[in-house]
Amino acid sequence: MVASWAAVALVPSEAMAGPKKGPLLKLKEAMPPCAEGAEHCFGVRLHVVFKRKKPVVSAKWLARQMNEANARFADTKIGFEVVDVRRVHAGMEVMRTRKDRDRLGQGRFKRGVIDVFVVGQLDNVDAPGEINGVHWRNRDNRQQRWIILSKIAWHVTLAHELGHFFGLPHSDYPGSIMNKSRKRDERPPEDEWAFHDDEEAIIEKRRLRMTRSGYIKPVEP
Ligand SMILES: [Zn+2]
Repeated sequence: MVASWAAVALVPSEAMAGPKKGPLLKLKEAMPPCAEGAEHCFGVRLHVVFKRKKPVVSAKWLARQMNEANARFADTKIGFEVVDVRRVHAGMEVMRTRKDRDRLGQGRFKRGVIDVFVVGQLDNVDAPGEINGVHWRNRDNRQQRWIILSKIAWHVTLAHELGHFFGLPHSDYPGSIMNKSRKRDERPPEDEWAFHDDEEAIIEKRRLRMTRSGYIKPVEP
């Protein structure tokens, strides 16, 4: 590919040819592929806030979220793969309001992939404090949904929010990652949390519906 000087001047790090890779390409290359056993591999588009030319989270952090999502969905035969990484400007670092959450995806949402945003701070809009992540519906167009993760997210937050993306509410199943109970002594070890059979059935229905409508498209092998 021949980059024109105009393009280089506009986006130097991304348009640069040769051995030096831009930060977005580096992040994308650090992401895991869908597992072999995943019969339905869906594309995730990562939108990461950059502050002072650096992403608010590391490639390792992002890879762990993806790995955990793939591991927890393994029984559903669904997998996730990052197909694109995009930069979001530092003005979006702190998400305080519902309007902020709407604005984050407006103009960035795309049908066919799962849009996941990673920000520096995600405030609780119902009570004081911060949250780890959220599955959000654009209030101006309820068809548009995306996931927002805070840099303080737990390693299974993406898997949990993807559970919401596939139609699941919170649950009481002891071994489910949709269970928000902190009573750990009544639950299996955290690394075993995945989905209950009833939840897997809902995920399967939703997968079929979203695939048929083109809301999400399987990644071409
Ligand atoms: Zn939740």
